[in-house]
Amino acid sequence: MHGLDDAETRFSPLDQIDAGNVGRLGVVWQYDTKSLRGLEATPLVRDGVLYATTSWSNVFAVDAVTGRELWYWDARADRVRGAKACCDVVNRGVALYEDKVFVGVVDGRLVALNAATGEPVWDVQTTDVAQPYTITGAPRIVDGKLIIGNGGAEYGVRGYVSAYDPATGALLWRTYTVPGDPSLPFESEALESAAATWNGRWWDLGGGGTVWDGMAYDAEARLLYVGTGNGSPWNQAIRSPGGGDNLYLSSILALAVDTGEIAWHYQTTPGDNWDYTAVQPLMLAELTIDGRARQVIMQAPKNGFFYVLDRLTGELISAAPYAGITWAKGFDLATGRPIETTQARYGNEITLLSPGPGGAHNWHPMSFNPATGLVYIPAQQSAFPYKNDPDFVATSRENLGVAIVAPPGFPDRAADAYEPGIGPTLPGANALVAWDPVSQTSRWLVDHGGVPGGGTLTTAGNLVFQGRGDGNFAAYSADQGEKLWEVDLGNGILAPPITYMIDGRQYVSVLVGWGSTAGLFGAYPSDQYMAEGRLYTFALDGTRALDPVRGIPRPALTEIPSDATEEQIADGSVIYGERCYVCHGFGAAGGGQTPDLRYSTAETYAAIDSIVRGGEREQLGMPRFDFLTEQDTASLRAFLLAQRQALIASQSQ
Ligand code: CA
Repeated sequence: MHGLDDAETRFSPLDQIDAGNVGRLGVVWQYDTKSLRGLEATPLVRDGVLYATTSWSNVFAVDAVTGRELWYWDARADRVRGAKACCDVVNRGVALYEDKVFVGVVDGRLVALNAATGEPVWDVQTTDVAQPYTITGAPRIVDGKLIIGNGGAEYGVRGYVSAYDPATGALLWRTYTVPGDPSLPFESEALESAAATWNGRWWDLGGGGTVWDGMAYDAEARLLYVGTGNGSPWNQAIRSPGGGDNLYLSSILALAVDTGEIAWHYQTTPGDNWDYTAVQPLMLAELTIDGRARQVIMQAPKNGFFYVLDRLTGELISAAPYAGITWAKGFDLATGRPIETTQARYGNEITLLSPGPGGAHNWHPMSFNPATGLVYIPAQQSAFPYKNDPDFVATSRENLGVAIVAPPGFPDRAADAYEPGIGPTLPGANALVAWDPVSQTSRWLVDHGGVPGGGTLTTAGNLVFQGRGDGNFAAYSADQGEKLWEVDLGNGILAPPITYMIDGRQYVSVLVGWGSTAGLFGAYPSDQYMAEGRLYTFALDGTRALDPVRGIPRPALTEIPSDATEEQIADGSVIYGERCYVCHGFGAAGGGQTPDLRYSTAETYAAIDSIVRGGEREQLGMPRFDFLTEQDTASLRAFLLAQRQALIASQSQ
């Protein structure tokens, strides 16, 4: 399993590499992944073979001692459907069972491969291809069943999770997380009672609640735990006018593994209004609380609270904020609900709230070390200007119900109208937080400033490993947070490291390469337009030299004349903010793995209408925005050329 076993704690009992000798760590092999987009997978190692995934859901198998490629499988994902992934065409890894490797493909397929050869054995479509579902999460094997969820709540879908027979690909059960059209029979009593917590015609817009990442399993209780995502659309006033809890959005669900029936639920964010998913990684542990051994499940979802629940009953044991938040001002343990601030339910004025849609913690895995009793969270201090979209109409792209506003101009809610929030504001925007889940307090933290931190791994060698968005990969002491070793791998790291032992030697591996908005942090090589991802493997006394990062060199930054008006540039800035920045970066500055649009050629700028509206580059994964107008794309070109001109001007200073 990705976190070693069903408990998914990402704690390794290996201790050959420890706090005393980790300074001797060096590279023993590297593998070029043939991927120019972001890498998020946790590799799995079995019988001397390492399996992992790249962007577009491609899978590779390499010798775990030498890095020699055994096979590489191109998923040939449907680029048009794949480009519906909200946050790049990433994939978080495979599942292994018996003689097969399983991967969820971004276009909604679930595929079984022969583990020895990489040849497909079976291939099933797990989603309705007419709807904007995608898969970025890893399948899991529990109780001999293959579990897969999906994503798409930024577009408008109804979330569910499915169990398949790993031998044949036959569907065993499927559990929806939100109710569908109530004029049709409900799939379960749980969904019938959930429907009473919704209003309006939510099913027309999907509802959301997608299961796109965190899972864990208690074999004794025969309970599979899954996290559910945000509402679709985000804005509850549009999704469920008049409010309601909107079960089972943003919830931890315990499912009976035999049937998928909901055994208990705990909703982290009632009436989600902010993209506060609870799909973040789930971990099982035994904690001594008030002198009593408790079998708990833990989560640090996007909303900023760290939760400890009794995993057999769903009883909330404790909740406390692990970052500074302004959407809530307290927590009522008696009701198990957050106490919202008055500004949380934003309206037509721009309201800055923490966290933003990226959360106080996102998909980047946390880890739990039973020796220190600490959870290592890649946390962030984020904020977002929320505002109702009064002109909302559903489109073929994002359907958030929130007007994306570009700075300057926010917040326009008067400062004295803000109630204070709660929680320990992180000193920089990003930190590695060592959290004590019993006392619900931070024991130590490493301030990463403006650079995002990746997933974590902790070991019996009193170590925590973590990469960062700027290419730094480091080991810290698990008890104190002292930095003991680091290396610059030259490309952004968000994926979690793993460790394994073969023939008496302990290895540490991590995927390096970042899609989306890495350009914000200068994470990629400055002379390259797109950089290839790589898997690095380390061991004590490894001596392999680091090769330069491979990639596509940047085009020359020549002058391109523009007759754009200031008004066009301003319009283009707004459209860019709503439709482009998530992949292409703020100010069009690129993401390392998606092009820096300031460096495009004159031909590309000239063809912008057929690229953006006509779908000319759909086969490269560039979505088609057929609902924009020719005037809109002219404004986008004006904005991009202005950004290019600003870059040229800054370089000539
Ligand atoms: Ca979301």
